[in-house]
Amino acid sequence: MLTNVVEFFKNLPPKSCAQCGAEIEEQHECYGIYCEKCTTDHEF
Ligand SMILES: [Zn+2]
Repeated sequence: MLTNVVEFFKNLPPKSCAQCGAEIEEQHECYGIYCEKCTTDHEF
């Protein structure tokens, strides 16, 4: 079922960092499940 993917993600609650639990800003979604600070510690 192809719904509007953009609208789907906009309706999601703020994501939290899997490591420190800090709220992840939308612009940081590309970093995955870690916040900007923790992503630096987990370079892929
Ligand atoms: Zn973090």
